[in-house]
Amino acid sequence: MIEPGGTIGILGGGQLGRMTALAAAALGYRCHIFSPEPESPAKRVTALATTADYGDRAALRQFAAAVDVITFEFENVPAESVEVLAALKPVRPGPDALRIAQDRLKEKDFLRSIDVATARYREVASEKALTEAVREIGPEAVLKTVRLGYDGKGQVTIRTNTDLAAAWSRMGAGLGILESLVDFASEISVIVARGMDGACAAYVPVENRHSHHILDTTIAPARIAPEIAMRAEAIARHVAEKLDLVGLLAVEMFVTRDGAVLVNELAPRPHNSGHWTIDACVTSQFEQFVRAVCGLPLGSPERHSDAVMKNLLGDEVAQWRDALSDPMAKLHLYDKGAPRPGRKMGHVTRLSPRR
Ligand code: AMP
Repeated sequence: MIEPGGTIGILGGGQLGRMTALAAAALGYRCHIFSPEPESPAKRVTALATTADYGDRAALRQFAAAVDVITFEFENVPAESVEVLAALKPVRPGPDALRIAQDRLKEKDFLRSIDVATARYREVASEKALTEAVREIGPEAVLKTVRLGYDGKGQVTIRTNTDLAAAWSRMGAGLGILESLVDFASEISVIVARGMDGACAAYVPVENRHSHHILDTTIAPARIAPEIAMRAEAIARHVAEKLDLVGLLAVEMFVTRDGAVLVNELAPRPHNSGHWTIDACVTSQFEQFVRAVCGLPLGSPERHSDAVMKNLLGDEVAQWRDALSDPMAKLHLYDKGAPRPGRKMGHVTRLSPRR
């Protein structure tokens, strides 16, 4: 166990690291942020920081020497860097979970291997392979890069009349995955925490609305049948166990019109669809993350309020005044400076207390 007073090393300097550092501080921990940007939302709230490239081995070794445990707030840390760190200090979740979550093909293969349903998919390594994969999967599909894709980056939707050569080059022409286009009734996610003793605590499934592939709104709880909610939660727990994960796992899923639950994506870290838990639950996802990573017992994920979380994307950050005029709204700003289109600048959670 890392006791309060210890230092948690976090790879990544964004808002997830910022909110983790704030929760860690409440429990008496310090956070040391490692990221290439000298100024970042997480570094603005922590005294300890390293500014270096994720591949800088000397900086990684110094960072490891300065902290008690290491985690990450985004997946795209080079696997080799995580191996360097893991030889020096505990890294939670471990390199295996990261390797799977970094690669959409490995992720889907892993899910299949543990009997979790996903959209149908094929690996595509060339334009010719894309044509064949479209023949097998069907003309309505999504082409995604296998690595480094997030918030819809590196994604191309394919329909009957799509020019496949153009789609292939738009995707980036690297290794890709073609998935069948799911005609979903809703998109949901479940965040589950898993402690070092294997204990799990899952938050209620929430419903996610996207705008241009970026999360716009999370509705907690999701408006789905209790039986579907139970299945979604069971899937999230199952995946966390099979990954032998210590930390947090967000599982993004599609609920199809005929009630099937298909897993779309895994994120082994705090997740945007869990921001509502800061204001609406006994234990927030960030506190739960700190507890799990430090080997403390998990807290209750129970919610005292229903909630709707709205991301403030780009210029929407100007709405901060409106949020403050609603007494049941909780405003969170990430201190990112100038807004850019689609950039996550903050969020507002509107609460409806449960009686
Ligand atoms: P991802 O980067 O995989 O999380 O995808 C971002 C968003 O694109 C998802 O939240 C969905 O709204 C949409 N999307 C991704 N994959 C599919 C799919 N196979 N079928 C339908 N919509 C998808």
